[in-house]
This record gives sequence, structure tokens and C-alpha cells, in this order.
Amino acid sequence: MPKNPAYDYVIIGGGIAGTTAAETIRSRDSQATIAIISLETERLYSRVTLPAYIRDKIPREKVFLRSLEDYAKHGIDFFGGLSVIGFEAERREIHTSDGAIISGIKILIATGASLRTASLITGIEDYTFGLQTIKDADRFHAFVAGDTQPKGKNAVIVGGGFIGLEFIETAFARGYKPHLLLRDKQCFGDQLDAQGWGILEANLGRHGVIIYPETEITTSGFTADGFTVTMTGGASIATAWIGYGVGVNRNTSSFQGTGVRVNRGIVVNEFLESSINNIWAAGDIAEYHDGIFGEDMLIGNWTNAFLQGKNAGINMTAQTPASRTAFCAVPAYSITNLGLHITFVGITKPREGWETISRVWDDGMSYERLFIDDNIIKGAILINRFQDKMIISKLIESRQNISAQKEALHDPQTSFSSLFSA
Ligand SMILES: Cc1cc2nc3c(=O)[nH]c(=O)nc-3n(C[C@H](O)[C@H](O)[C@H](O)COP(=O)(O)OP(=O)(O)OC[C@H]3O[C@@H](n4cnc5c(N)ncnc54)[C@H](O)[C@@H]3O)c2cc1C
Repeated sequence: MPKNPAYDYVIIGGGIAGTTAAETIRSRDSQATIAIISLETERLYSRVTLPAYIRDKIPREKVFLRSLEDYAKHGIDFFGGLSVIGFEAERREIHTSDGAIISGIKILIATGASLRTASLITGIEDYTFGLQTIKDADRFHAFVAGDTQPKGKNAVIVGGGFIGLEFIETAFARGYKPHLLLRDKQCFGDQLDAQGWGILEANLGRHGVIIYPETEITTSGFTADGFTVTMTGGASIATAWIGYGVGVNRNTSSFQGTGVRVNRGIVVNEFLESSINNIWAAGDIAEYHDGIFGEDMLIGNWTNAFLQGKNAGINMTAQTPASRTAFCAVPAYSITNLGLHITFVGITKPREGWETISRVWDDGMSYERLFIDDNIIKGAILINRFQDKMIISKLIESRQNISAQKEALHDPQTSFSSLFSA
């Protein structure tokens, strides 16, 4: 890199949001100079497929979505392995970990999120695994590949969210016996009611997962049985490894106190522009104002990051303010866990003043929970009911008043398609 290069567009973060923004800018401006600065050295890869890689369902190479030639082909300078350590917002100058100052006429912040590390980890790092980056996946992959006789050995998994479930599926696929430690009484906190949690819990139990509600690791060390963790209440488990998924923190630290408004993420308006002109944010880092929900949203999913990257690229290259496009989307996240297909769409946390309707089917494996504010569906959790996702997304997006159909929705035999047109 030249000492202090200047670009038309600088993208901080080489994930799906940043890369999509850079490519969108290029598709709309063939002459612009564009750079991506990324803390990770690797070219764009899919975090979504990391679980498949650590289960040996796909080879490592399949995780990558771009080759280095792709960046060159699009005339995008990719600077991997560089961290932003200082940011002068008004001057739009970025100080990087190698001592350079990179300036951009327009800058996009797309720095995503990092794993929150569990307080339990100190001293047991060698046996403890998170799953956020390809490096995390490589480390875990090498560890389990070296364990030649895993069958029946225990694996301790901490956290009852999406990453915890990914580790359970991984343990199962690789022949370990999963023990799931939950800080709360159940997975996904209060997002599932007793019926929804009952379905998930029964399915985990059927697969031999042992669940420890309201339990944390208190100590760890080596015993005659090998590496052993002791839990709240005093019981202990000898385990091959610990997988943890206890949430993420947005990577905002480089931008705190720089004039760019930071709250839980980088605060942006509906056009994804920050409190400072010509500085935008997209993807997991963006706390944006959404027109559908009428509130500030902070989302962590792949499609949202892709769509925001695209939207930011369009708005950053817009010729006039009037030609910018407001971003709004109904977020959704799906996971398959031990045969259950679970989908979260829209806002899926109960709130004061909201109603919820739970629909449970006789097979004991299918469930829907609708989150309703003033007769408008705001979100839903679906277990083995993916067929309703599209219609529910549309109802959320169109903010359709469902007062006429609400009563009927209490009966799971009444289908969405019989009440609403797709
Ligand atoms: C294991 C796993 C499975 C997932 N599965 C799903 C799924 O099934 N469905 C779904 O919708 N979503 C899933 N997600 C979430 C999804 O992958 C993310 O929402 C998405 O990748 C976010 O993209 P992003 O570009 O906003 O941020 P990121 O992908 O986090 O990229 C941010 C980039 O910024 C860089 N960076 C950070 N700080 C700095 C800095 N200071 N200086 C320079 N660069 C910096 C990082 O190195 C990184 O390259 C999963 C995530 C994980 C980890």
C-alpha cells in the first residue's frame, strides 16, 4: 500500500455487507477508486456455512465466496489484516494498525460483530471454542480431527441461542454427547413460550442432549477423568471440549468518541447514513431506522447484511439526495436443529402491551408464535412451519390489520392461506 492513500470510497470491513457495498459502488461507478480494509486477512467467506465446514459436510474451500482475482477484476483494493485504530470523522481519515492514514471521500463502516467471550473461559482456552470467524472454525476443526475416538465423549455447550444450537448439532454429527448449559430456564429466553420450548426441549432430549437450566461453569481443571468442568450446584462433567455461544458485541470501539453517533451499533438514518455526512454504516453494525417497524433496529443476519450493503452502495453513489433509497426489510433467520426447522421473522420478543398467539399442532413438532401489536403482526417464531414464512413476512411488511382474522388464528387447523391471500 502507498504510504497514505486516498480513495473515493473506503469500506471498513470485508464481510458480506462491506463487500456487497464495494461491488455495488463499482457497478454504478466504473471510474471510482475503492478500497476495503478488513481486520481479517481472508477474502469474503460465508459465516453461515462455517457450521457445515466444522461438521465436514463441506470442504473448507467451499466456505469462500470470492477469489483474490475477483477483487482485482472489480478494481477494488483489498487490504486484509488491517485494523482501524483511529478515525477522524470530519476529515474522513482512517488510521490503520500498520501506521497508514487512508482517506476516503465517502466511507462505509461495516465492521460487524465479535463474539462475547464467556466469563468461564479464563485458563481453559485450549479446550474452549467460539464460532464467529474462519479462524475459530479452523481451530475447532483441527481439534476434533485430532480426536480420533470421540464416540460417546462429552461436549459441553454453553448458551441456548443459534450458535449454541449449531454446536449441539456439530457435537451430535461428530459423535460427542452434548451437555447444554443455559443461563436461563430455556433456549432463546422468553422468545419461546412453554409450548414452544417444550417442543424444542423434547427434541433435544430425544437426541440425548442433557440440558442444565440456570447453570454456569464455576471451575475447571484436570481430574483422573481428564479435562473436567464443575457447574453451579457442584456437579461436574469430564468433557472433550466446550463450545460457547453467549452473544456478540458490535465492533463500534474504533468509532466511539469520533463524532459518529454510536449507540448499540453505529446509528444511521433510513438511508444508512450516519450522523456525519458521507459516512455510512451497513450490516450487523448498523442501528438503522426502519420504516416498517417505525423504530431503530439492530439486526444480525446474512440477508439483511447483504441487502444493506447493496442499499448503502446505491445511496453512496446517488447523484442527488432525492435519488437515495430508504432501507426497510423484514428480517428473518432460520436454523435446522436435529430435524427441527426453526425460523424467526420480524420482532420476536414479547413486549408490554403486545399480544401473542401460539399455534401448536398435534404432531408435537410444529408450532407458531405470533407477536402482535395493536392487531398488526410484528413477528413470528415458526417450528417446522416454514410454509407460512412468506405470508407472515408480507403481513408484517404491509402492516395489515388482522383484527377480523385474529380469533380464527387461535385454531392451528385454520391455515394462513385460508385467511389471507399470498
Ligand atoms: C457461525 C455463524 C452462523 C451463522 N448463520 C447464519 C444463518 O444461518 N443465517 C443468517 O441469516 N445469518 C447467520 N449468521 C449471521 C451472519 O453471518 C452475519 O449476520 C453476517 O455475516 C454479518 O455480515 P457483516 O458484513 O455485517 O459483518 P461481518 O461478517 O461480521 O464482517 C465484519 C468485518 O469487519 C471486520 N472488522 C471488524 N472490526 C474491524 C476494524 N476495527 N477494522 C477493520 N475491520 C474490522 C471483520 O474482520 C469482518 O471481516 C451466522 C453467523 C455465524 C458466526
